[in-house]
Amino acid sequence: MSRPTNPLISIIVPVYNEQASITAFISKITPLLAPYRYELLFINDGSTDNTEQLICAEQEKSSFITLINFSRNFGKEAALTAGFDHMSGDIGISMDGDLQHPPELISVLIEKWREGYDVVYTVREKRDDESWIKRFATRIFYLVFNKLSQLSLPEDASDFRLLDKKAVAALNKLRERSRFMKGLFSWVGYKSIGVTYMPDERHGGASNWGFTRLFNFALDGITAFSSLPLRIWSYVGIIFALGAFIYGGILIAQTIIFGKDLPGYASLMVAIFFFGGIQLFSLGVIGEYVGRIFNESKNRPLYLVDTILTSEIIDTND
Ligand code: UDP
Ligand code: MG
Repeated sequence: MSRPTNPLISIIVPVYNEQASITAFISKITPLLAPYRYELLFINDGSTDNTEQLICAEQEKSSFITLINFSRNFGKEAALTAGFDHMSGDIGISMDGDLQHPPELISVLIEKWREGYDVVYTVREKRDDESWIKRFATRIFYLVFNKLSQLSLPEDASDFRLLDKKAVAALNKLRERSRFMKGLFSWVGYKSIGVTYMPDERHGGASNWGFTRLFNFALDGITAFSSLPLRIWSYVGIIFALGAFIYGGILIAQTIIFGKDLPGYASLMVAIFFFGGIQLFSLGVIGEYVGRIFNESKNRPLYLVDTILTSEIIDTND
């Protein structure tokens, strides 16, 4: 396998209100990148704090920093996408700007790439400070996802990854709006390997992920990669229709043999509520998919770039 001996490395960092850690991030990563040819690509995902100013201040010192400003907050997945769209390296490495992804690992990732791997993902070691409920929920999610979709997601793989430029090119072809990046990375394939690491504490600020956001994220992931939740209702429908048919037969037989049997308010109510519930739930599932079809069909851009700032020139993108 022939690899360029001195590859250009694009580090892709989505940032959203990271003023507490961005300067520390840059001063930590810069010496580590010194042996390489590199570009540091920050995607400012509509920060409302001083993140942009702080990055611009760093640009005065380093000519390797590029800043892409979004017109508003589009979410981390969109920011990552923009990074992969705009990078020009032979290798793209995506990582968080809060120093939870140890920059020391970059050299390990590049080493793996040199060995011939096109995708090197990192796997978090278990942390004790995460609540058991969050860990439990994550486990369930991976279990369900891997069962429902044809893909197998490496468990606990983070968004700290290295992609060879051919994997990046493949990824850039996937323009769906509901972007479940972990799934997209898996879908693309290529020769992959995992590297484990222990995540550091957040350097400053707070995580932007609440529990509902994580739940929606999981829902997005599953609906984007599996239509089984839709098909289940056909089976449920068939089973209940069959049951109803048999029970109907029994009722008719009973009426013929034993005569009319009027009392039955409780069982009727239970049946009505039960089937009402099932119908609403299945409609809800269908709705989830219809909503996503609606979203995709609008065909809106995944993100809007306001400005792209490099050290020398300032140009406005369309
Ligand atoms: N981030 C972003 N847009 C968002 C939320 C987060 O670009 O809407 C960035 C954030 O600045 C950080 C990375 O995505 O660099 C991971 O975010 P966070 O630390 O909040 O997530 P966690 O580490 O809890 O997964
Ligand atoms: Mg974080």
